[in-house]
Amino acid sequence: MGRIPETVVIGAGQAGLTTSYWLTQFGVEHQLLERRDTLGGAFQDRWDGFYMNTPNLSLDLPGMPFDDGDRDAFIPREAAVNLFRRYAELIAAPVHTGVDVTRLSASPEGGFLIESSQGSLRARNVVLATGAYQVPKVPAPAVKLPAAVTQLHTHEYRNPEQLPDGAVLIVGTGQSGGQVAEELHDAGRDVHLAISVVPEAPRRYRGQDLIYWMLETGKHGPDYGVNALTREALPSPALRFAPNPLLSGTDGGHSIHLRELGRRGIHLHGHLESVDDGVITFSDDLPERLATVESAFGQRSRKAIDAYIAAAGIDAPTQAAELADDWLPAEPARVSLAEAGINSVLWASGYKLDFGFVDLPLVDEWGYPKHSRGVTEFPGLYVVGLPWLTRHYSSIVGGVGLDAEYVAGCWGLKALLAFRLINLRHVPHSGSSLYQGVALHHCAHRRGNHGLDKPQVRWHHPIGKHLLPGSEKDWVDPKVELVEHALSEKSLDEIEAADDVDVLVLLAELPQFSHCVRA
Ligand SMILES: Cc1cc2nc3c(=O)[nH]c(=O)nc-3n(C[C@H](O)[C@H](O)[C@H](O)COP(=O)(O)OP(=O)(O)OC[C@H]3O[C@@H](n4cnc5c(N)ncnc54)[C@H](O)[C@@H]3O)c2cc1C
Repeated sequence: MGRIPETVVIGAGQAGLTTSYWLTQFGVEHQLLERRDTLGGAFQDRWDGFYMNTPNLSLDLPGMPFDDGDRDAFIPREAAVNLFRRYAELIAAPVHTGVDVTRLSASPEGGFLIESSQGSLRARNVVLATGAYQVPKVPAPAVKLPAAVTQLHTHEYRNPEQLPDGAVLIVGTGQSGGQVAEELHDAGRDVHLAISVVPEAPRRYRGQDLIYWMLETGKHGPDYGVNALTREALPSPALRFAPNPLLSGTDGGHSIHLRELGRRGIHLHGHLESVDDGVITFSDDLPERLATVESAFGQRSRKAIDAYIAAAGIDAPTQAAELADDWLPAEPARVSLAEAGINSVLWASGYKLDFGFVDLPLVDEWGYPKHSRGVTEFPGLYVVGLPWLTRHYSSIVGGVGLDAEYVAGCWGLKALLAFRLINLRHVPHSGSSLYQGVALHHCAHRRGNHGLDKPQVRWHHPIGKHLLPGSEKDWVDPKVELVEHALSEKSLDEIEAADDVDVLVLLAELPQFSHCVRA
């Protein structure tokens, strides 16, 4: 893997690649380690007939806006995989594939020790971009199913032909369960569906795809005091794991309405409770369950979107709530597998996070990394791509790059700080340390390369706009070339330990970056 990198990103799915893009923009040398042999992340694990359930308008990646057709359309699996491969090429992501990181721990020499299938290395900074949907979950009753019944998680499902003839029971109605139920039914299979409480939602709402509003409300809602789609406003930490609404990208995109599936001939059941002697018992609460599924969107997301549209003064057509549907299935709560002819079970029961390879007390009691906007309590360790990292959109394509920019900015800032500290002595004191920083920039600009051999880094500065809102002109010039020298000659710890730390202290006090700088 060559020279020891300053920064290592583990995982090269969309979260890792967008982080790489921003690190490059901030001039931070880094490498990505990816356990798979090919790029495309978890989208490579989806079934053959999979279509993204987020429309093309949500596929803009930092530095590569989606420009391949109708922004309201949906792309199939292979196009999604190719999108990320093209992106990696475009941004020249420094990826090493086939490198499985098996252990991450604190290095006694400082920084982190990364142990992998290809050997060990040390790094000062590590970002975990290992995915939001890592390990398929299979409920306990699976072990009680008769051996003759074929069992698959949707993670392993590819197409209807893979299942033996006969009826199929699908357990779970998240996005996988809903879409695969439709696919199998359309293929002429007799489908039973044990439903969960994932909310139904309209595919299009007030003139736009629902994902459009989810992204817009997440991004801009807080500017108007609408915070419902932010992590801070979640009523319970359990909701960080709440699945996305029951929507599909197939056939041009549509919402999935469970009672409609029932009317079309799919057998709807409650939650799978137990399996005994080839008989399955489902919860006897189908009417309540369907009502919960149908009301959840109106209770939270719809209110947030409506509030954002009103607060931002957006001219969007009104849309009435769906009419109540009181159709009910007449399935029994107990079903004999043999009598119903069910000889395969598909577990559409979702995924869980797995940070077992991190040998640090990183996760909370839910197995979710403790962090603030992706910055963990271990200096130099960051995380991106988690569900609800900052917003509802954090784990989908259109949102992950926004979080990645913030996390990558922490390293960028550190490098800038180190640079400025080293050069502090060249700056005439202006009376205010804040403006001293700005003066320092001017000084840097005037002096060109500061007497060092040659400029090595071109900084593009999103940092400036965050750091000194309204003062961008003073602080940032996108064309300015600064010299990266501090981090290569002195460690940041050494710099932090030096006497002339007033700029560092001052910048650490700025709320935008206080979490990045741990004095
Ligand atoms: C059924 C389903 C449908 C979905 N549909 C959509 C959709 O339509 N639109 C959308 O935006 N999102 C969708 N998602 C969410 C989607 O999976 C994520 O948007 C996306 O895959 C997350 O990207 P990521 O980079 O965070 O994780 P991943 O794509 O999982 O990438 C993480 C990478 O890290 C690698 N890795 C993990 N551990 C290690 C290790 N220890 N060492 C080295 N490498 C490692 C993995 O191999 C992987 O390539 C869907 C999810 C599911 C489950």
